[in-house]
Amino acid sequence: METKAVVNRIIPFSSVDGPGNRTAVFLQGCNIDCKYCHNPETRHMCVDCGACVEQCPVGALSMGENGKVEWKEDLCVQCDTCIHVCLHGSSPRTHVMTAGETYEKVKKQIPFIRGITVSGGECMLQPQFLLELFRLAKEDGLSTMIDSNGMVPFQDYPELLEATDGVMLDIKAFDREEHKNVTGAYNDIVLANAEYLAQKSKLFEVRAVIVPDLYDTEKSVRQMGAFLAPFLKIHKFRIKVIAYRPMGVREIYSHYEVPSRDYLEYLAGILREQGFDDIIII
Ligand code: SF4
Ligand code: SF4
Repeated sequence: METKAVVNRIIPFSSVDGPGNRTAVFLQGCNIDCKYCHNPETRHMCVDCGACVEQCPVGALSMGENGKVEWKEDLCVQCDTCIHVCLHGSSPRTHVMTAGETYEKVKKQIPFIRGITVSGGECMLQPQFLLELFRLAKEDGLSTMIDSNGMVPFQDYPELLEATDGVMLDIKAFDREEHKNVTGAYNDIVLANAEYLAQKSKLFEVRAVIVPDLYDTEKSVRQMGAFLAPFLKIHKFRIKVIAYRPMGVREIYSHYEVPSRDYLEYLAGILREQGFDDIIII
């Protein structure tokens, strides 16, 4: 039986979710709670409370006879009212899809894409779906990438890793207490994943979101670089230094200062001194 996942959205063409032009699939549900999350409506599964139904200005939402919220995509005007009124960190604008149904949507882009990237939420919470989807993609010669917060141990899913060309891994803070402050969880699994993926030559990219008001970003980048640099001898991988931006962030966390380009360049300089030559600042 084909495994189903709750799909938040599929972006047919993306040039920022891995190498080349790719179709990006975003799954619903996450296992941490980052204060600067740009898609806070992807954190949890809908509990069908119905609070958003009456608020929809165009009647795109209704409560089905099965007690579940139904979304009529063709009526939706993407006003985002539903996600703003939701108190559960969720969205009614999702589809429950099998890997095969999801792949049918990917397949339409095949002449124009190099591969598929699955993100979230946290896509590693639905590993069997990922495996089935990636096997279908591989049959058509597409490359397969996972965008992950690193909170699920990759070593528990060797078959999935076999079907995966690379992982883009977030290190949201290097210090475990600071990681807990940023995300609500310690980062022991994240760092173990970074090492494991590097050793398996599956670490494509490590990402650090820079929020100077939230954690000691210079110390974190320095310690992260020192930790990761030895793995460059095994396998080349990229570091992405990402500026915090308030777009989509919940109001209570949207006051953090956006770091300057000069500061991001300074952090990249630290990484360069540690031996990294593939650094992207965005
Ligand atoms: S985003 Fe769509 S479903 Fe949500 S409230 Fe607006 S129109 Fe309705
Ligand atoms: S999306 Fe949120 S508000 Fe709407 S039914 Fe689901 S849990 Fe309730």
